[in-house]
Amino acid sequence: MSDARIGVLALQGDVREHLAALRDCGADPVSVRRRDELEAVDGLVIPGGESTTMTHLLRELELLEPLRQRLAAGMPAYGACAGMIMLASEIRDAGTAGREALPLSAVDITVRRNAFGRQVDSFEGDIAFEGLDDPVHAVFIRAPWVERVGAGVQVLARAADHPVAVRQGAVLATAFHPEVTGDRRIHQLFVEIVNGRR
Ligand code: GLN
Repeated sequence: MSDARIGVLALQGDVREHLAALRDCGADPVSVRRRDELEAVDGLVIPGGESTTMTHLLRELELLEPLRQRLAAGMPAYGACAGMIMLASEIRDAGTAGREALPLSAVDITVRRNAFGRQVDSFEGDIAFEGLDDPVHAVFIRAPWVERVGAGVQVLARAADHPVAVRQGAVLATAFHPEVTGDRRIHQLFVEIVNGRR
């Protein structure tokens, strides 16, 4: 069971799938759309979707700076795909100026947006994941990859010769979408991180 309150940023993207995955892990997650909701959570999932749109909405709703501040203060977070892009400290191919994805700087990595999308829009495959006995079936949908990993960032999985899952302290990020498979091990890991057990 989860004691901590976990939120899912619910501005855009596959929010419902993350809420369901967290519930399967024994958590009682809440949607986060407002500042008071953000202040009330102990950890936050940033779902896949479109990082440029999510950045725009965060700004419109005056959530960008409060979110940056909570992350800087150590709030645990898990970002999948667009969420990984948002959590990065540097974004390449961030989008058109004025509508670009802005980094929240919670993990010291450089990501390239739509990196896999240059070759194929999406692909899937089984990849080894640090700390898990069996491989994870990873679904990549116009996914980023990681081009630089700072000191203190642990690489948990790789694909196409690039890191695709990383962890720095209580912040976890994957370029792929575990919420669309029935495999809950990565959400379970995050729930345990938020509860201070991993
Ligand atoms: N390409 C999207 C972006 O730039 C991410 C895609 C996804 O989250 N599935 O944000």
